[in-house]
Amino acid sequence: MSGPGPVVALAGGVGGAKLAVGLAEALPPGALTVIVNTADDLSLHGLHISPDLDTVMYNLAGLSDPEQGWGIAGDTTGALELLGRYGGPTWFRLGDRDMATHIRRTQRLSEGGRLTEVTAELCASLNISSRVLPMTDAPVATRVQTPEGELEFQDYFVARGTRPRVTGVRFQGAEAAEAAPEALAAIREAETIVFCPSNPIVSLGPILAIREISDLLENATAPRLAVSPIIGGAALRGPAAEMLQGLGHEVSALGVARIMRKYLDGFVLDDQDADLLPSLKSLGVAGRAAPTVMTDLTTKKALAEKVLDFARSLR
Ligand code: GDP
Ligand code: CA
Repeated sequence: MSGPGPVVALAGGVGGAKLAVGLAEALPPGALTVIVNTADDLSLHGLHISPDLDTVMYNLAGLSDPEQGWGIAGDTTGALELLGRYGGPTWFRLGDRDMATHIRRTQRLSEGGRLTEVTAELCASLNISSRVLPMTDAPVATRVQTPEGELEFQDYFVARGTRPRVTGVRFQGAEAAEAAPEALAAIREAETIVFCPSNPIVSLGPILAIREISDLLENATAPRLAVSPIIGGAALRGPAAEMLQGLGHEVSALGVARIMRKYLDGFVLDDQDADLLPSLKSLGVAGRAAPTVMTDLTTKKALAEKVLDFARSLR
């Protein structure tokens, strides 16, 4: 039996990283490339912070905090506390060890490295055998429209705790942004494409807003599958459900499949949503039900294996 060949996964942060870890476990070393959202990136304390890249990276390196899914396990916050005493912003939580990542990234970018190259260096140092690629080296910034006005993404997400109602979303810079050549090459070479269970609006949305990436994914001949981040009409965490509703989409796995329809050959939804399989079929997307809640390495790998098996059946 032949293997799945090169696999490309598209991911945001916490939800995406979980399946990325499962895929890395299930695949031979080096077979996985994860293309990651960078529209959440921000600059604070003079540092370039890439929250989704870091979440994916720390998870693949086995460094991640297992409870919250982001940040480094057992990290302390002494640097941030002192920055606060100096009058710096403390609303965005940064751990002490985590800070080293942002310092190094910022330094290497200032020396002229592209984000793709700098990310590869960080991953190599952390002994990550999968490839982690930003969707673009160009700046793209998610802006969230709310009744309180248009907000920067992290202002909405962290500072305001996703409380404002979302009436619109845009990805500033996405139209002009060129995809990183490494990301485009990875998609062209992929024999399986997996959309991780990330927020479809603000995690996968920005990646798909990069024209060259969207074109390749739309026309790819490799089987393209997604895992639903919505289970039983709700998100496991984060504002995906409220965002879908605010933007007029059905808040269900089916609603997510509808949004992503043109990129999909197969869609994995949770066992508890198995009643949606016939509607998925009417949409022209092959469906499969599986246990999709990932709580530990075993459940991450098991779901990844299900997804790869499903892909094989679609090839
Ligand atoms: P963020 O950038 O950190 O917000 O993370 P993502 O966009 O990658 O993931 C957020 C989404 O992941 C939410 O909509 C969650 O419902 C979903 N999610 C988190 N954990 C799981 C899981 O174990 N299984 C599934 N199917 N979805 C999950
Ligand atoms: Ca994110």
